Amino acid sequence: MLGLMMDRQLTLATLARHAERNHARREVVSVTADHDRHRYTFAEALSRARRLSNVLTRLGAADDARIATMAWNDFRHLELYFGVSCSGRVLHTINPRLFAEQLSYIVNHADDEWIFFDIAFTAILEKIAPLCPRVKGYVAMTSQAHMPAHCTLPNLHCYETLLAHESDQCEWPEFDERRASSLCYTSGTTGHPKGVLYSHRSTVLHSYALALPDSANLSALDGILPVVPMFHVNAWGYPYAGMMVGAKLVFPGHRLSSPELLVDLISEEGVTIAGGVPTVWLPLLDYLRSSGRSIAPLNRTVIGGSACPLAMIEEFRDKHGVAVLHGWGMTEMSPVGVVNSPTSANICLTGEALAAQVVKQGRALPGVELKITDDDNRELPWDGESFGALKVRGPWICSEYYRLDGVSQAHGADGWFDTGDVATIDADGYVKITDRAKDVIKSGGEWISSLDLENVAMSHPAVRECAVVGMGHGKWQERPLLVVVAAQAIDKAELLNWFEGKVAKWWIPNDVLEVESLPHTATGKISKLELRRQLSAYRFPDDQA
Ligand code: ADP
Repeated sequence: MLGLMMDRQLTLATLARHAERNHARREVVSVTADHDRHRYTFAEALSRARRLSNVLTRLGAADDARIATMAWNDFRHLELYFGVSCSGRVLHTINPRLFAEQLSYIVNHADDEWIFFDIAFTAILEKIAPLCPRVKGYVAMTSQAHMPAHCTLPNLHCYETLLAHESDQCEWPEFDERRASSLCYTSGTTGHPKGVLYSHRSTVLHSYALALPDSANLSALDGILPVVPMFHVNAWGYPYAGMMVGAKLVFPGHRLSSPELLVDLISEEGVTIAGGVPTVWLPLLDYLRSSGRSIAPLNRTVIGGSACPLAMIEEFRDKHGVAVLHGWGMTEMSPVGVVNSPTSANICLTGEALAAQVVKQGRALPGVELKITDDDNRELPWDGESFGALKVRGPWICSEYYRLDGVSQAHGADGWFDTGDVATIDADGYVKITDRAKDVIKSGGEWISSLDLENVAMSHPAVRECAVVGMGHGKWQERPLLVVVAAQAIDKAELLNWFEGKVAKWWIPNDVLEVESLPHTATGKISKLELRRQLSAYRFPDDQA
């Protein structure tokens, strides 16, 4: 027997209409190349999103066209998030930090019809445009006065001029909630980037889950600052969830790596929650230490994308009264899978027990199913000790990659997606990521967690940033090497001593290497693949083989 409930489809248009009626006066504040501090209301944002849908129709974009963006976090990008998807078309957010050959590959693979771009990316697009002959034209996301001069891009339009000539009368069509809404490619550390095609349903469900109290706990009282770029998994879903709950949205534009601007925005715009990968918070914390400024309205920050060091969690909490919500997820998961929020059983922990608890990645959002398995695909117990391949399934987890040539190893016939991460899960459901499967260090037949070692190293005052990688060793097969960017002079022996009593003796790295900087991926994470390549000639001093 079927239930007798209305079959209203979960589409982004329903979410946008809710925001228009209920949060019309809420503000969107942005820094852009042509505005120091642009501000308008949700009502204006969505009225312009409707104009944009009309622009796309006038430009002749197909009903299900892929419309690409190469842009920072600001109000125009937000208009594209809704104007493209609510009209039934697919928003393809391109990461401008990818290599040129990856960029032309994904534009062609996605079959993008139009590319909307910030003028800062004009030169990148001029370079790849000849390699992307099926793109019908380009729209510079600026006003006529700021249009790039001597631009060679074919069929170039000005965003503000197009919008100015259009009406905001546009009834977004009703359609199946499973229709594609947006497309994001993983950075593809090996092989070509792979496309993850989100649906309206998956995006709306993910927004509900993100807003839950044990998740990001979003409400109309919040000011949200997505520091994570809008080209990185839809800025982790914050623009959608923020619109849904009626939180103020604050966008740092092209200046997202300026700690001074971030602190200005936090204090002047009443930001209560910010989200980003650990590497964006390092300069912010440095700046707070040297300037003595406060980030008072901020009460929590969501940190994920790579493991958040304990030292960062403690500095935010103890010096600034900001709770770090450590989270884990991936492009294939929209992206949030687990968030570390407390329960009544662990909220009172202190000292080492608290430290061990907060470095965990967290508990599954309702809707996300998890399991860990051994090499024979047998499920392992949730005892906080057994570690294995972390597998997931749920309504905002990708079922297959977009137009993939061949079969994905990650999508099992049993309907579970293998995340490529190795983890433990404790009896309360808290996941602790040990490593990416390809980064696990295998020493003498035993596994060592590079993330645990990095956490210990990061708590040493002389260490600014670090990575632990497994390097070949004649006797042990692999041993950990600690690669460090120093904050102050490093004494190798003293640094290695720091690990005594904090990890098993045989986990302690065999050597420390000091470097000027560490390589990062296009999404701002430390690239261990590139680091291992750079270190290919390295030999441990104690390796006689
Ligand atoms: P990419 O970095 O390749 O663009 P994603 O952003 O999808 O792709 O990265 C997902 C991966 O990032 C996860 O599989 C995991 O290895 C890592 N990751 C994400 N969050 C965390 C976290 N909190 N702790 C440790 N690793 C994390």
